[in-house]
Amino acid sequence: MQTPAHAALGDLLSYAGTEPLVPGTLVRVPLGKREVLGVVWNEPVSLEGAEPDMALKPVGAALDALAPLGEAWRDLVAFAGRYYQRSIGEIALAALPPQLRDLTTTQLARRLKRKTTAGPVAQTAESANLIALSEEQTAALARIEAETGTFLLVGSTGSGKTEVYLRCVADLLARDPEAQALVMVPEINLTPQLEARFKARFGDEAVVSLHSGMTNPQRLASWLAAHSGVARIVLGTRMAVFASIPGLKLIVVDEEHDPSYKQQEGARYSARDLAVWRGQREKAKVILGSATPSLESWHQSRPAEGEDPGGRYVRLAMPSRIGAGELPAVRVVDMTQQPGKTVLSAPLLDAIGQRIARGEQSMIFLNRRGYAPVLACGDCGWKSECPHCSAYRVFHKIDRTLRCHHCGFTERVPRACPACGNPDIAPVGRGTERLEEHLAELFAGVKHADGSAVRIARIDADSTKKQGSLESQLAAVHAGEVDVLVGTQMIAKGHDFRRITLVAAVNPDGALFSSDFRAPERLFSLLMQSAGRAGRDAAYLAAQGARAEMWIQTHHAQHPLFMALRRHDYTSFAAQQLEERQAAGMPPFAFQALLRADAREQSVAQGFLNLAADKAEALPGADLVTRYPAVPLAIQRVANVERAQMLIESPSRAALQRLLAAWQPLLHELRRTPEGKGVIRWLVDVDPHSI
Ligand code: ADP
Ligand code: ZN
Ligand code: ZN
Repeated sequence: MQTPAHAALGDLLSYAGTEPLVPGTLVRVPLGKREVLGVVWNEPVSLEGAEPDMALKPVGAALDALAPLGEAWRDLVAFAGRYYQRSIGEIALAALPPQLRDLTTTQLARRLKRKTTAGPVAQTAESANLIALSEEQTAALARIEAETGTFLLVGSTGSGKTEVYLRCVADLLARDPEAQALVMVPEINLTPQLEARFKARFGDEAVVSLHSGMTNPQRLASWLAAHSGVARIVLGTRMAVFASIPGLKLIVVDEEHDPSYKQQEGARYSARDLAVWRGQREKAKVILGSATPSLESWHQSRPAEGEDPGGRYVRLAMPSRIGAGELPAVRVVDMTQQPGKTVLSAPLLDAIGQRIARGEQSMIFLNRRGYAPVLACGDCGWKSECPHCSAYRVFHKIDRTLRCHHCGFTERVPRACPACGNPDIAPVGRGTERLEEHLAELFAGVKHADGSAVRIARIDADSTKKQGSLESQLAAVHAGEVDVLVGTQMIAKGHDFRRITLVAAVNPDGALFSSDFRAPERLFSLLMQSAGRAGRDAAYLAAQGARAEMWIQTHHAQHPLFMALRRHDYTSFAAQQLEERQAAGMPPFAFQALLRADAREQSVAQGFLNLAADKAEALPGADLVTRYPAVPLAIQRVANVERAQMLIESPSRAALQRLLAAWQPLLHELRRTPEGKGVIRWLVDVDPHSI
């Protein structure tokens, strides 16, 4: 094998072998002084007649107790590397469990034997007591059975989407004894409840999970079970999209709109998009499920009959909630009509008070943790800036610290203004900690019928740092030990709280005017999702003759986003957003990538980007790709590093990809020139989430 062209990117390496090895075989190979895990990538090449100085190191032991990684898997890895501008090796090794490297062949053989003798599969554990599907579920299922390709399942929160996934998997496994399914969720906290549901239906042996919260031995066990076909169902977060699943016939991406599917460091892949690609490559059906699909997926889906013909995905609608009551009534409080500095408006407080009196729960949602985002001196104008970042440090009252949420720099709160000595420095603005304190004050005098005090609780990244604390706090909410729950978006997702009948977003306006064009889309889905937490116990509400409520406090009560939310009208919101995006030539009507550079000085970072743009001028695809000027990031400096980025955009995905591919080697070179020397790191983000 000659030195492959990719070697410069630290990509494919050549080794000598005595026996020809099948592509996909896992091997141990020497690299420098170490021995590392490798995957045979190409067919072996004979070196007869080659230059004698091509002294290749010999390949180490092959892990031949394992079946080679399949061609489809290798194609997926190669595609992800190409598309996201990373090396094949980086993607492949991140996809494989770290402990694979350390296993001896005998150990592997023993583990596989133990696994397989457990046997596939104590299947359909509770097939006897299946619930009868609703009409909407039945119709959705019938179309998934009848057609192929990718489906967009648009179902309200609580419409029974998970039940549809379970049935699709059950039908598949019953029909095909070799088939496997991959089911993805956006967050680790959502895996336990999903795992429980799948295990109850299919038995413990059939289901494995893959996510970053697992220990290395757990990850290895799950991976081996998937690769060997013993596990029929693989559940996981975004990393699971790279699992080796030889019998893959069905992929589910639940909450497909969730930004967590996009990896934000290293190889910045979208697991949702790769799932669709993988489904096509392997002829597996793909179900993308959401109450508020991403505008990309919505735009790709074929509308109902009678409308214009649309995109490639089959759209399936399940608008009705099952078991839960109707969606909550949305109440919008116009904060311009409230007295200045109002935090919680009188009508909202009144509604919360009524819930407390009835023994129901309320959930108040504020997407900012800490006590106050800034501490300031009224005399001299000092503010709690971070010395290392272009951001303010957040005041955390609980331990009297100023903490930077970007670099982590933490100090005790000063006794007096560090600039002028004024002892009277004050918090400005409000985070969850302060809101919790405020509510505790407001309801201090209020008692339950039995004389007990009102209980306020908070769930956010600060309150859940300790292992297991999220679980115990959620359990307290479920057990009814909390009257009012304050939290960040952590509490908005997925949880099936039965007693919550009021949800409030008290300060959502920031996202309306954000420079990030996706902010309204995210806000809308977050608010719809939050609304979905309320009124999940239909029988209770019916007995009370009550309806759950979602409250929004805003200074822009007439904003179309809130108007659409009032009607729970995703369709018109999406139509309005897509119209704006089309007019502005933004995704999904254009394709984007970001080139980012970090340096000690902003001018160095921007200089690198601008030089890179000059280099791109002559490349293939350049005429179809717009390169915008380099700009600082919204938070320009983090931990004393200056950050800059350049947006690259094209109406043609192919043209953008062509340009990026040709650009990559030039960027590596540029890094080594005097202009590139000061650059600490650079990266390409394809289909970036926030720009
Ligand atoms: P989603 O995933 O759309 O939020 P789920 O599948 O979790 O909805 O269903 C919500 C609730 O309704 C669950 O408790 C589920 O067991 C129940 N459910 C789902 N389908 C049915 C059905 N056909 N009949 C009765 N209950 C159902
Ligand atoms: Zn001062
Ligand atoms: Zn900082």
